[in-house]
Amino acid sequence: MRGWIAALALSLAAGAAATELPIFDAHIHYSHDAWDVLPPEAAIAILRKAGVRRALVSSSGDDGQQRMVAAAPDLVLPSLRPYRTRAELSTWVRDETVIPYLEQRLARYRYIAIGEFHLYGADADLPVPRRMVELARRHGLLLHAHSDADAVERLFRQWPGARILWAHAGFERPEKVREMLRRYRNLWCDLAFRSDHAQGGRPAPEWRELFLEFPDRFMVGTDTFTPERWHYVGEHAAWSRAWLAHLPRDVAERIAWKNGEALFVAPLQH
Ligand SMILES: [Zn+2]
Repeated sequence: MRGWIAALALSLAAGAAATELPIFDAHIHYSHDAWDVLPPEAAIAILRKAGVRRALVSSSGDDGQQRMVAAAPDLVLPSLRPYRTRAELSTWVRDETVIPYLEQRLARYRYIAIGEFHLYGADADLPVPRRMVELARRHGLLLHAHSDADAVERLFRQWPGARILWAHAGFERPEKVREMLRRYRNLWCDLAFRSDHAQGGRPAPEWRELFLEFPDRFMVGTDTFTPERWHYVGEHAAWSRAWLAHLPRDVAERIAWKNGEALFVAPLQH
């Protein structure tokens, strides 16, 4: 009898989990300093426990990330970062060795995006970023850009057919984000590491309008830019579910996970 009750309790718990909004986390890093303290299996366990059904993962140093992909190909969507170490974040735009590094990786592994890279203003038109965009075009990869609006526009000028995931929605104000989304059909935004879109557990009014005008263009992300941030993945998923619950259910589902699936996973199935 006791066993039966335990089984029932378990199935009820599973039922509750099934109605919980799944999360597509569009902004995960698993960089070299995370590998030592958090083996791939532990990182995967954190994501699964948080109810993350898929994650766009990009890392400074690709080896650990590849171990994560190998261990959980259903969960981890790999994006190739032009950084071998975190220190290259501001130097890569003028570093010619970045291109052969990207070429070697692209020849060896499969990716769905290039990024997240940091790129601002006129730097987008420097030779190294231009060649990176060329590689993305040749391999049919999305660009995950931590950029200001100016650099995003330059990227679209280089490659009008690009699909760009605008990291942190550029940390731009909602009016600017609206202007960009109206102008560029192939621009999506992740909401990682900004808090103005949801305050007191609810979407902020001006952001709510934006979510309703562009329900297909936003996704959430934790941004594990340091190893410590990995311990925040579960909390971030819960916080996302809480503020999303104040939007119409279909919009909440899209921002929580369906937009990520449509952008990154659906094209792989054709
Ligand atoms: Zn970023």
